[in-house]
Amino acid sequence: MRRFVNWSRTQRSIDVEWAIPRSEAEVADVLGRARRSKRRVRPIGSGHSWSPIAVPEQIALDLSRLSRVLEIDAAARTVRVEAGITLAALNLALDRVGLALSILGSIDAQTIAGAIATGTHGSSLVHGNLASLLEEIVIVTPSGERHALVRGHDEAFDAAAVSLGALGVITEVVLRVCPAFALIGEVEARPILAVARDLDAIARSAEYVKVWWLPGADGAQIFRYGRTPIAPHDLRLSRWIDTHVTNRVIFPAALALGARVPRWTRSINRVVAQSYLERPAVPMRSDLAFNVAMPPLHREAEHAFDMVRAAEALTRLAELIDGDDIAVNFPVEVRFVREDAAWMSPAFGRATCQIGAYMAEAADLPRFFAAFHTLSRELLARPHWGKEMDVDADYVARVYPRRDAFVTLARRWDPEGTLRNAFLDRVLGSHA
Ligand SMILES: Cc1cc2nc3c(=O)[nH]c(=O)nc-3n(C[C@H](O)[C@H](O)[C@H](O)COP(=O)(O)OP(=O)(O)OC[C@H]3O[C@@H](n4cnc5c(N)ncnc54)[C@H](O)[C@@H]3O)c2cc1C
Repeated sequence: MRRFVNWSRTQRSIDVEWAIPRSEAEVADVLGRARRSKRRVRPIGSGHSWSPIAVPEQIALDLSRLSRVLEIDAAARTVRVEAGITLAALNLALDRVGLALSILGSIDAQTIAGAIATGTHGSSLVHGNLASLLEEIVIVTPSGERHALVRGHDEAFDAAAVSLGALGVITEVVLRVCPAFALIGEVEARPILAVARDLDAIARSAEYVKVWWLPGADGAQIFRYGRTPIAPHDLRLSRWIDTHVTNRVIFPAALALGARVPRWTRSINRVVAQSYLERPAVPMRSDLAFNVAMPPLHREAEHAFDMVRAAEALTRLAELIDGDDIAVNFPVEVRFVREDAAWMSPAFGRATCQIGAYMAEAADLPRFFAAFHTLSRELLARPHWGKEMDVDADYVARVYPRRDAFVTLARRWDPEGTLRNAFLDRVLGSHA
């Protein structure tokens, strides 16, 4: 028996049975036992979701021992891996043979199954989220079936690609990979309202683009990354310093100061933006350009806005923060994701602008997140499944056109609701 606690220490379970299968047969066995005894199971990855999506209620199915690279097919440019492999281990295995993933989010601690299950994404209108790299998914269901779903061949593939862990347990995936590449970034500062005004053009101004805005700083930073033939620099030392000194000592000290004296938050942000965000450009291995050093403990809410409403969303968020004088101590992050066909993907059927509201614990956090959630609902944004949100099943049904088909499939593959937890009951509706 053990407790589940997520990365941000904001979600925890009671003591639950902890199953660590070593094979697909053992996964099926745990699901079968749970179904027969009418107990609930939650597959868990690295526990890096802020939402309670991974919180187990009776049995935790920990995939960490199913983490092998099974096959790299350099000619076909695909890799077959077990579901519990972390992105860090996968990047390393690919780099050894001169391959890479064409898109990644900000960190590499997640498992591949956990990342795709929540629609985890990086920032590019050229590339989709991580689930868009899938070619095949193997999923074992509480109903006792094993489905090997292939992109373009099985309708259920688009349901299983972003599944919230509600359809079955993913045991293997095949991903599309590309030759290893290096990126070089440039940073441009612009006032946040000017960024909002030109958002569409900014989003399309490079292969990979993201925006960070520390309220109070002189401008927002637009980060653009393009491919370079120049050999990447060895960043191990500077990454170590960022992880162990900047993000563990200096940034937390600045956050603690701001939490004590909230009116200083904007001045602190100005100093952080000048000294930390505007750095000289160097060529980087692609995964090191996508990933940032592990940030200090904080909370995140993030919503996917239709690109056509993104400028309005960012303008309103900026006016809200400045107008209500909310002391925001982390960057607001703006990213872009190409549209896809996965039924429960926040980018289903529309190119999206992902706006992230992040904060370390401080007095204004509840007010900031509540206002952001309200604004996001008004603009019919879709919440990031792995981050804080306040939506219910009616709202989800409104913004996900394939939600009914997804729930119907979940009832077929998981007739007793073995994979449900309180969070899934809330966002998908009762399983009965
Ligand atoms: C510091 C930090 C930075 C982050 N950066 C980004 C980012 O840049 N972009 C972004 O989009 N998100 C980001 N996230 C969010 C994160 O990517 C997601 O929450 C992701 O789902 C976490 O993966 P995990 O392996 O920890 O999965 P968990 O949080 O453990 O689980 C997430 C979901 O996956 C399901 N699941 C796990 N394994 C399986 C399986 N084998 N079969 C079926 N279902 C399974 C679980 O049931 C649960 O529903 C970040 C999170 C943190 C803490």
